[in-house]
Amino acid sequence: MPARKPARVPPMVRGTVIAHRRRCGKPNCRCVSDEAAHQSMVLCYSEASRTKFVMLPAEKVEPVRRATEEFRRAKARLMEQGNAGLAELLSQLKGPTQAG
Ligand SMILES: [Zn+2]
Repeated sequence: MPARKPARVPPMVRGTVIAHRRRCGKPNCRCVSDEAAHQSMVLCYSEASRTKFVMLPAEKVEPVRRATEEFRRAKARLMEQGNAGLAELLSQLKGPTQAG
């Protein structure tokens, strides 16, 4: 196992890269007026119906953002194919059955 080799970002990642801002609570910290003071980039994702965050090191922000976009594109393509398949099946079956 290679030691300390930075892991490559996977080509597809579910989630959204967002700027996470917080206030530390110290009364004379600059975050009182500057809400970007403790800003960090995080990957926001849901797991078991809960929203979770994981901090991203600076060099991973762009690759992870691209990977999440790739996931959204792939998901949209899959939805299109599924919808087209459904439409085709419905036309083969001569439309949804109607009551009465
Ligand atoms: Zn602060």
